[in-house]
Amino acid sequence: MSDYVDDAEAERWNHHPGMVSLNPLFAWPPDPMAVVRWYRGAWFQITAVSIPFLLAVIVWWALIPPLAAMETFAVGWMAQVWLANLLPQVLVAGGLHWWLYSRKGQGQVKKFDSRDLAYSNGTFTFGNQLWDNVFWTLASAITVATVYQWVIFWVMANGWVPVVTFAENPIWCVFWLALIPLWSGLHYYWAHRLEHHPMLYARVHALHHRNVNIGPWSGISNHWYENILYFSGYFIHLVIPSHPFHVMFHAMFQQVSPVMSHSGFEKIMAGDTEAAKAGDFFHQLHHRYFECNYGTSELPFDKWFGTFHDGSAEATTRTRTHKKQMYTR
Ligand SMILES: [Zn+2]
Ligand SMILES: [Zn+2]
Repeated sequence: MSDYVDDAEAERWNHHPGMVSLNPLFAWPPDPMAVVRWYRGAWFQITAVSIPFLLAVIVWWALIPPLAAMETFAVGWMAQVWLANLLPQVLVAGGLHWWLYSRKGQGQVKKFDSRDLAYSNGTFTFGNQLWDNVFWTLASAITVATVYQWVIFWVMANGWVPVVTFAENPIWCVFWLALIPLWSGLHYYWAHRLEHHPMLYARVHALHHRNVNIGPWSGISNHWYENILYFSGYFIHLVIPSHPFHVMFHAMFQQVSPVMSHSGFEKIMAGDTEAAKAGDFFHQLHHRYFECNYGTSELPFDKWFGTFHDGSAEATTRTRTHKKQMYTR
């Protein structure tokens, strides 16, 4: 059953959440109250921003050693950094998959696409969408992300770049934390646009787009080359003065938030109550129609460059025309 939206596009979805909204920070004329509501909604509810922040606090406290211990490459601290990446991924993706898809804990409520995941389909590695996604997430994505963090922590520990502390630079540290989702969105938009070039798409990014219908493990189920590019944004911490916690928040944001945004369900329900925001219709539209919504709703590059799909039937027609033009040039 579709939630009623006065547009033919609504008929194509089990749950259509209405027109996609973008970060009002970039809207004109300015609407400060809408901006406050947007950021309060992202940081002070259970969302794809606050969960990564909480996970970053936990792994940084429990697993990330002091910088002094990371001056030379050694198995101990390197394994701890790997676990700091692996465990939250398994916990969140595994937990959401179990609740939403194995146990079917909330049935079809708030589920965008009525179809189930493809458990038997030759397109996927091992012929199964779940095992394909688990493999590419844990073997490829977590490996590349971890190797980058090893290098960043090692450079920081050796004092080759400035490292800030929350005690000495509290305002900068908080400001930079708040900016990380914007930086991540900016880097993602350009990397992702590049990957949709027909040459790169077929060789690299098509692996992520095997998932037309997405689930939690689809989030960072990417080809090796895509991961090399996707996580390269972490090296900003060797340019912009950072604390190791900034690196871990950036990592949790870029690794765990896609798990939530790809979950396929707009909200996680606790009985009849909406307990958490999860799926991102903005990106769900990208997986169904491909040549739209390359970025995030946080930073509206798609609107500025004419590739924004707002969830309407008219936007679907425009996207299909754009795709045809891309491949007939
Ligand atoms: Zn894509
Ligand atoms: Zn995706």
